[in-house]
Amino acid sequence: MTLLVVKNLHKAFGGVAAARDISFEVERGELVALIGPNGAGKSTTFNIVGGQLAPDRGAVELDGVSIVHKPPRAIWRLGVGRTFQIAQTFVSMTATENVQMALQSAATATFGLWRSAHALKRDEAVALLDLVGLADSRDRSVGTLAYGDIKRVELAIALAGAPKLLLMDEPTAGMARGERGKLMQLIVSLARQRGVGVLFTEHDMDAVFAHASRVLVLVRGEIVARGTPAEVQADPLVRRMYLGTYVGARTAGGDGAGGGA
Ligand code: ADP
Ligand code: MG
Repeated sequence: MTLLVVKNLHKAFGGVAAARDISFEVERGELVALIGPNGAGKSTTFNIVGGQLAPDRGAVELDGVSIVHKPPRAIWRLGVGRTFQIAQTFVSMTATENVQMALQSAATATFGLWRSAHALKRDEAVALLDLVGLADSRDRSVGTLAYGDIKRVELAIALAGAPKLLLMDEPTAGMARGERGKLMQLIVSLARQRGVGVLFTEHDMDAVFAHASRVLVLVRGEIVARGTPAEVQADPLVRRMYLGTYVGARTAGGDGAGGGA
């Protein structure tokens, strides 16, 4: 069964339609990128899937279960996770402690009790940090880690909830170019290994075209193009409307930093 099915979503703010008749699917183990200029409706679509926003109409199903109009916490419990920035309060704690907290919170949500708190979930936390490539830094306080490594801790925290679908809003924002590719590769391999579907937004077109399995292009609330990275890059409408600046920047002898908004 398809993991995520989004059908004919519509959402207007006052007179502005932020999402118009949006339909797409995400399968297990794949990365689907949602791209488009500012104001295209990326966050709106994301927030409807995560439950932060209710659509005016349309359907969202996870594993065949309707998740639309449910509160975010219920949607999270059903298997939709998202990455969050580690709050300032927690940066003095170690990477392991942060992931332990996330694991305890997930166990509490599942069993309704703080049942496993005594176990502290240390082994599981260590295993997750291992998985994201942070075995060596797990006992360091998060505040002392490099930015790219903090992003890895955030990924481990999101995985602690054992999501079926992971929503990531600009996972590589603020990272150095080399680090971005590595983080995207990690996300691709984790998604495949664990059969997690990933829906992400991203300004960095290199990250999108190198790592997404499929790309959805939103303009003014509408999906104007969709397909594999190669198909989307070749789409004349996309090249004209949206990627023109990107392609132009790449071929004009720039340093390839184009694609940002
Ligand atoms: P993106 O994430 O692609 O930049 P958004 O989904 O944030 O786009 O916004 C899509 C459109 O909806 C924009 O025109 C934006 O101004 C409008 N919009 C988004 N959120 C709200 C809101 N809470 N209230 C009013 N208008 C909003
Ligand atoms: Mg946005």
